Amino acid sequence: MRKNIVAGNWKMNKDFFQAQQLLTQILSYTRNSQPSCEVMVAPPALYTSMAVDLLETSGVKVLTQDVSAHQSGAFTGEISASMIKSLSAFGSLVGHSERRQYHGETDSHCNRKIKNLLEEGLTPIYCNGETLEQRRSGQHFEIVKNQTEVALFSLSAEEIVKVVIAYEPVWAIGTGETASPQQAQEIHKHIRTLIASKYGDNVAQEISILYGGSVKPDNAKEIFSQEDIDGGLIGGAALEVTDFAKIIEAFS
Ligand code: 13P
Repeated sequence: MRKNIVAGNWKMNKDFFQAQQLLTQILSYTRNSQPSCEVMVAPPALYTSMAVDLLETSGVKVLTQDVSAHQSGAFTGEISASMIKSLSAFGSLVGHSERRQYHGETDSHCNRKIKNLLEEGLTPIYCNGETLEQRRSGQHFEIVKNQTEVALFSLSAEEIVKVVIAYEPVWAIGTGETASPQQAQEIHKHIRTLIASKYGDNVAQEISILYGGSVKPDNAKEIFSQEDIDGGLIGGAALEVTDFAKIIEAFS
């Protein structure tokens, strides 16, 4: 059965000492309160090793925010799936809209990144979602369908069940404007139906689909209560332990 997950994407925030402090706070929170969902954090990649070490006994899983589409070699600044694996991290975000917008990342890059992670036994959290323009012109279902097909549909059934999907409408990221629970649910259902029509319903029911975009303590419960929403990928509200904890508690 699919898992409920709350994952924090720290983006490019926190220096080393601030990161250490927040990780320590997350460690003591999760130790004291035993969350009823999976908890993951994606700090900047520089802090992966520290995060894995600090959170080792907590059950909190550590992700990177990106991974290279290449396996090794002359790709200055890039981080490979095997490097992530060698630090005992759990997986990586792939295809975040900020990577698409500022770094020209496409769904075929995402496909290669996802395959590299799976080859190393790591978990890809594949992000997709439409822009405001695309939603205004009524293309959101089609855009998400194309993204899902190009990035994921060359995987086998055994591979795709290991992927977590995060639907993040670009217009809701960092804007304070959330998709309504109904708007999010209809896209999540659309994604699950697409997967079911290619791989069968059993596979579709195994895959966690998270929502991301201005999830806050006061809206998390309603969003997560939707049938096809299995948790959240949290940006701004993951930078303070109190807000992150309240979002985790939306599952209790
Ligand atoms: P916000 O929660 O800040 O809108 O960011 C969402 C996001 O991009 C998570 O990956």
